Amino acid sequence: MVRMLNALGHEVVTFDDLSAGFRDAVSSGKFVQGSLHDKLALSALFSTHRFDAVVHFAGMIVVGESVRDPAKYYQNNLVGTLNLLDAMRTYGVNNVVFSSTAAIYGVPQYVPIDEQHPQAPINPYGMTKWMTERILRDYEAAYGLRSVVLRYFNAAGADPDGGLGERHDPETHLIPRALRAANGEGPVLTIFGADYDTPDGTCIRDYIHIVDLCDAHVLALQHLVSGGESRAYNLGNGQGYSVKEVVQVAERVCGKSVPIEYGPRRAGDPPRLVADASRIRRDWGWSPRFASLEQIVEHAWQWEVN
Ligand code: UDP
Repeated sequence: MVRMLNALGHEVVTFDDLSAGFRDAVSSGKFVQGSLHDKLALSALFSTHRFDAVVHFAGMIVVGESVRDPAKYYQNNLVGTLNLLDAMRTYGVNNVVFSSTAAIYGVPQYVPIDEQHPQAPINPYGMTKWMTERILRDYEAAYGLRSVVLRYFNAAGADPDGGLGERHDPETHLIPRALRAANGEGPVLTIFGADYDTPDGTCIRDYIHIVDLCDAHVLALQHLVSGGESRAYNLGNGQGYSVKEVVQVAERVCGKSVPIEYGPRRAGDPPRLVADASRIRRDWGWSPRFASLEQIVEHAWQWEVN
């Protein structure tokens, strides 16, 4: 995101506590190390820069961990966000792009999921994002803070130019885990549940390339900075792949077999999440550059190899 914004001529300040990120991943713009739990650091940040907008990515994202340790998620994703929004209010910054999630919909009543789908998160991670969306609506009504909420489905892929990719420790996501298992750099891939009510029994997800997510954030920023009203959009390709199908694509892309074993279901996993992202296509002309799962996995593989 920082690279893309810099390339478009924007000045960017990255504020990150490096609890999950890496200093060397921020190769351009200004970097400030700090935490959303540190109100003094936030005041210092906002008093020394004039921001047009904030893109708020600072959330914890691991569904299973949120089930085991909800306090961590409510503290970080909710309290941290409230601190950020308060600093924005204090310093008169009225535009925010917020990373929300398909997890706010819970177990889908129908797929593909559009923005009108009932919202009923089934895990604490999804709850923190759902609550933040509600807070943003109240803050807009009371304080005039405008937001674009982007509900990501499964963010995946890597920078096509190389140099940036998923770097989680521990890595929990399917695509990097499958590729590492194939490459002999990780454990055997455990498939979490093969008894779901889906054609092959494994969970179905809609994988979206990070570049396509970033494109949507750029459109969101342009919309907010030019005075546009608050919006919420789903972001996915509209195509669902089962865990087994992802494994097959990973094998084709890397030319190796992925060693697998079957394990129990992972707590908090809905069986099927597929986006209807026609609203953002219609309103802003967004369309994915890397819609095919092959391309997404290829970029992830290049990153693993590098
Ligand atoms: N998954 C799996 N084994 C793994 C990691 C993930 O079977 O080692 C499954 C997981 O249960 C889900 C899908 O792959 O159905 C995508 O999971 P991931 O953690 O990548 O993203 P999430 O859907 O949690 O955002």
